Amino acid sequence: MSFSAFVIEEADGKVSGAVRSLDDADLPEGDVTVRVACSTLNYKDGLVLNGLGKLVRQYPHVPGIDFAGTVEASSSPDYKPGDKVILTGWRVGETHWGGYAQKARVRSDWLVPLPSGLSERRAMAIGTAGFTAMLAVMALEDHGLVAGGEVLVTGASGGLGSVAMAVLARLGYRVAAVTGRAETHDYLRDLGADTILDRAEFSEAPKRPMASARWAGAVDAVGGTTLANVIAGMAYGAPIAACGNAGGIDLHTTVLPFILRGVGLLGVDSVMCPKERRLRAWDRLVRDLPLDKLDAMTTVAPLAELPELGRRILKGQVRGRVVVDVNL
Ligand code: NDP
Repeated sequence: MSFSAFVIEEADGKVSGAVRSLDDADLPEGDVTVRVACSTLNYKDGLVLNGLGKLVRQYPHVPGIDFAGTVEASSSPDYKPGDKVILTGWRVGETHWGGYAQKARVRSDWLVPLPSGLSERRAMAIGTAGFTAMLAVMALEDHGLVAGGEVLVTGASGGLGSVAMAVLARLGYRVAAVTGRAETHDYLRDLGADTILDRAEFSEAPKRPMASARWAGAVDAVGGTTLANVIAGMAYGAPIAACGNAGGIDLHTTVLPFILRGVGLLGVDSVMCPKERRLRAWDRLVRDLPLDKLDAMTTVAPLAELPELGRRILKGQVRGRVVVDVNL
């Protein structure tokens, strides 16, 4: 049976892609074959689509680091045809063909059941970025964050930032959003931001490793000098969930905020996240992410728009979450 897929190839060191027709026999190894409904666009997909970051070693390749769909065939006792499933992480879309196709074949232990109460499209509106946002909130809570304080979210109009803000606001935190885009201020307020700060305030290296202690917690999607400034402004004992590096991987600070203020720097990784925590995060998303806010941050695109979307997400020009409907 043939199906459509967005396939990338490498020629003369340059990566490009197009929608092509593939056959079941082209699919990689795996004990479950899924008829994909939708995937999403994440920052990492932008890197893969543009051949950056050395995430993909073998071409041709089908990108797409997450997907939702229906099991078509399974030799695993855990899934039967007709089951609704989602996948995020496990380097699918990097070292294994991913969700930018009408079919995917994967290992059953990478899948989780679609949570009841979520459609495939809404599950992917959450997708990897939203799932990671929930892991970040859970990490802050595990480190003692309690409602009432002001929580900073950087990269706020991006996918991860948008979901983190909507969840934090729903849980009763006051949220301060950092953005470089003046045109997203109304969007951020609608998602629950109480305060909006200009990205420029965070783009220079901080003059001192500690500044006035303000934030009760932080979700950082940006890294680099932004994270160094976030660290400098944390309140005593406050945790930071460090999730991303859209603004760079270097970090210049000192041990002082960690020793003298007890700041907690918590790394968040969604890729290898253990199953039990994965299931808990999805349960929490169903409970704590308002669906009207999720819908307001979501746009839908066909496979054919991926080259343009891949360029735009790397420039920080994509707002909220983009669901890739593979059947459009
Ligand atoms: P998006 O592109 O949707 O969001 C990133 C946001 O960061 C942008 O919208 C922009 O927000 C801001 N930004 C972009 N470039 C810069 C820059 N140079 N300096 C400062 N701010 C910048 O990406 P995602 O939300 O999908 O992912 C965000 C980060 O999180 C990425 O680094 C990604 O790789 C990482 N990530 C990590 C995961 C994990 O498991 N740890 C999982 C998923 C994502 P604004 O315009 O509002 O300023």
